[in-house]
Amino acid sequence: MTMKTSPDTPSKRPETPSKGFGGSEESPSVPTPGRTPGKAKQQLNVRAELEKRQGGKSLLNLVVIGHVDAGKSTLMGHLLYLLGNVNKRTMHKYEQESKKAGKASFAYAWVLDETGEERNRGVTMDVGMTKFETASKVVTLMDAPGHKDFIPNMITGAAQADVAVLVVDASRGEFEAGFEAGGQTREHGLLVRSLGVTQLAVAVNKMDQVNWQQERFKEIISKLGHFLKQAGFKDSDVFYVPTSGLSGENLTTKSSALALTSWYSGPCLLEQIDYFKPPQRSIEKPFRLCVSDVFKDQGSGFCVTGKIEAGYIQTGDRVLAMPPNETCTVKGITLHDEPLDWAAAGDHVSLTVTGMDIIKINVGCVFCDIKEPIRACSRFRARVLLFNIEVPITQGFPVVLHYQTISEPATIRKLVSVLHKSSGEVLKKKPKCLGKGMNAMVEIQTQRPVALELYKDFKELGRFMLRYVGSTIAAGVVTEIKD
Ligand code: GDP
Repeated sequence: MTMKTSPDTPSKRPETPSKGFGGSEESPSVPTPGRTPGKAKQQLNVRAELEKRQGGKSLLNLVVIGHVDAGKSTLMGHLLYLLGNVNKRTMHKYEQESKKAGKASFAYAWVLDETGEERNRGVTMDVGMTKFETASKVVTLMDAPGHKDFIPNMITGAAQADVAVLVVDASRGEFEAGFEAGGQTREHGLLVRSLGVTQLAVAVNKMDQVNWQQERFKEIISKLGHFLKQAGFKDSDVFYVPTSGLSGENLTTKSSALALTSWYSGPCLLEQIDYFKPPQRSIEKPFRLCVSDVFKDQGSGFCVTGKIEAGYIQTGDRVLAMPPNETCTVKGITLHDEPLDWAAAGDHVSLTVTGMDIIKINVGCVFCDIKEPIRACSRFRARVLLFNIEVPITQGFPVVLHYQTISEPATIRKLVSVLHKSSGEVLKKKPKCLGKGMNAMVEIQTQRPVALELYKDFKELGRFMLRYVGSTIAAGVVTEIKD
């Protein structure tokens, strides 16, 4: 990588580690790189500007996971309603519609389900997004779908999340069903952890169904706690909150119901979300945005949406799209439907771009800094952790690579070595096959080129999942990019 130096553009962005938005004393003025002196734009102190923009609140991307019917949509829909994010008239409309459809208790869930198709099926299919605020945070909520076929969508949601709320159904037999092999509680827990989520709030939901019994709450904590620890969550980063998504108990205010207050004095779900540690944003790194949608708008150019994973962008910036390795100009930036002059890591934005043909841009392209671009490749090495797989993996094994917003057919081109789970030491070179629970180095070949980073450089852009006929078989991190 070459770095040009000129009097007004420093050779490198400051390498100060990200401190979250709170660290104002340390806010370095991040100069706008790559501009010609004559056209220099105003320099932007991104950290200070972000703090101003959010009224001192930090941004949190939250994904909701859990077994189908655990009550995820009802819980989050009710929470949004209690926060005043859904007005009475809309709620009334949802109630009428859901009654008509014979599913009255689904009214809150409908707040989150936007398409008619989802309503008819009573299932949240896509990763819808909504915003709400707590005392110290602005939270972007991604409602993850629970059905088995929809896990690829969930990976997209979870890959963009900082923290997760795991919803479990406390009813007798139901928690157990979701927790067994085949249930999604375990798979979702493993998935989000593999995708980099470290903090988790567990909503022990439908507590009304078990009369708010403390014993049941404790029983669930002990079963789940053991598993979550194995999945790699620290005990100190997992919090359990008894809730009822249907009655709204303990969602946004502490409960006053004696059945609960007689043994529980902890935070309600909203408070618990507020207590999450703010994530670190890679604002000082070169700009990266993974495209999650592409569409034609009125006017010239077209729009792409996605989460800014690193760096920041200002209107007028020229950016590179990888693949196809072509540049375009950012004409407009919108965040939550509001036009902005700039946006930074952590923001889910929509960019209006010109100077490029829409045909060339697909979901999964990465828009990046022209001077320090991401690489596109179809062959890379990775360290993978195999899940509970039934068939052993051999050379040439077909998989689907799930990475950020991409799902791309790929093959395991080479089995390089088997590694020790914790030390990473090579246990065996060129193994003939890989089995469940193993840690290994492999070489992966994708059908088409994908834009990737090494995990050591960009955590967010260096990890992926592998799936095979409908189940997730491995999580991995990129260690070397070939060709
Ligand atoms: P999802 O698939 O996890 O999104 O679950 P839904 O939100 O669609 O809820 C599934 C069913 O459980 C619906 O019939 C809800 O009305 C019901 N439900 C959700 N939360 C609660 C709760 O706290 N208590 C009770 N009794 N029922 C609930």
